[in-house]
Amino acid sequence: MFDFDLIVIGAGPGGYEAALHAAKLGLKTAVVERREVGGTCLNRGCIPTKALLHASTVYEETKNGPALGVTAENLAYDLSAMFAYKQQVVEKLRSGIESLFKAAKVTLLRGTGTLTAPNTVTVAGENEGVYTAQNILLATGSVPARPPIPGLDLPGVMTSDELLNGEGGDFSSLVIIGGGVIGMEFATFYNDLGVAVTVVEGLDRLLPNMDRELGQNLAMIMKKRGVQVFTGAMVKDLEAVDGGLQVNFETKGKLQSVVGEKVLCAIGRSPYTAGLFAEGTAPEMDRRRIKVNQRFETSLPGVYAIGDVSSPVQLAHVATAQGIYAVDEIAGKGNEMDLSLVPGCVYVRPEIAAVGLTEADAKTREIPVKTAKALMSANGRTVILNGDRGFMKLVAHAETRKLLGAQLMCANASDMISQLSEAIANGLTPADLLRAMRPHPTFEEALTAALEELEVKLG
Ligand code: FAD
Repeated sequence: MFDFDLIVIGAGPGGYEAALHAAKLGLKTAVVERREVGGTCLNRGCIPTKALLHASTVYEETKNGPALGVTAENLAYDLSAMFAYKQQVVEKLRSGIESLFKAAKVTLLRGTGTLTAPNTVTVAGENEGVYTAQNILLATGSVPARPPIPGLDLPGVMTSDELLNGEGGDFSSLVIIGGGVIGMEFATFYNDLGVAVTVVEGLDRLLPNMDRELGQNLAMIMKKRGVQVFTGAMVKDLEAVDGGLQVNFETKGKLQSVVGEKVLCAIGRSPYTAGLFAEGTAPEMDRRRIKVNQRFETSLPGVYAIGDVSSPVQLAHVATAQGIYAVDEIAGKGNEMDLSLVPGCVYVRPEIAAVGLTEADAKTREIPVKTAKALMSANGRTVILNGDRGFMKLVAHAETRKLLGAQLMCANASDMISQLSEAIANGLTPADLLRAMRPHPTFEEALTAALEELEVKLG
């Protein structure tokens, strides 16, 4: 009686993975997408930033080549070629998703989807029409936030959307408002290219949502590379001046300012629901987020929401995990993933990756813990790479001995964090993790060192 078992609105990492999973479970599925498949992550987020960072890292490492006996004559970079490479990567992955939809028989409806009645989505655009489904999954994501700071709408102020679109062109100085993950990845990219970068962060450290030591260490590394970093700095306003834009901010009651040819506003993202609900069809909201329960149900029967549009943690893998969980709920199938355990990675140099509790979290929650730390300066593989200061830090429950958290700052941290997530999700102890040997020379040998120290501290 319905056209589909499931209509997903939004083909970002939440929506497209949910649709593919639903098709695998035998549900007749459609996805509505108003822009390109892949969403923010593939087109304006995770993938383009990492492609650009890969390019700038190759440039940076080649600059340091002579110390290793490698010289490249006339070393230079071409920003438009870097952006073209980024675009190639994006387009390759985008066509991959479209092929996956075809292979799985997921119907892609191009256009803007609006919930117009129970079980009904009206699509405006290429595949215009009224479609019905037993279940509807809202996965419309988020857009960059532009808080009402005077001057933030001046020409030359960009968000990650415009910057990744190449709208900024070539420039010699950049002020980044926001020292979170997005801000620091762009700071790394432009600093590698020799652009004068200033970061202005309102809270007392960079990466304020992560372990204190990570942000403090990163600030030291960035300053050493010539990036100006202001923390505890609240931006008051921006004004156009000769040579660009002046950002005025207050630190400890003192007014200060910096000038940049361009400004990147990287202070968060807002859930996106524009045009999603016809009058009288909106579910209950939690401020701008769609409110959901633990099963990702909204207040409307048969309507679910996942990812950036409803989640306080806005990450691609969170959107995907929630989408798969919601589809399993719809299909009446169990899902045992621990959705509260969220690894987070920052693709600066060295990389940062963390999961679970920090020592400070444990203190706040009055959980007795022991911690251990191994420095990467003693790790052979890191020395070969001439790596920057880094460490691996582990947190374990003082009584149950179970691993509760890990914070890594080292090369390839993003590829190593999952084994620690697995250990935490499965209630493993340092002794469990020490049962297997780690190859030499690898970054993971530092993990063995941290685990051994933790074992000693646990007594
Ligand atoms: P989105 O990816 O935002 O997708 C939503 C889709 O819905 C969009 O394609 C949109 O066009 C579509 N849509 C919206 N409304 C409608 C409608 N009414 N009808 C039809 N279609 C609609 N996360 C990480 O995990 N790792 C990273 O390294 C990382 N780096 C990032 C770097 C940057 C610069 C940015 C901006 C973000 C980054 N993120 C990263 C965050 C990540 O991109 C998001 O958390 C993720 O994309 C959210 O997925 P989603 O499916 O919920 O929404």
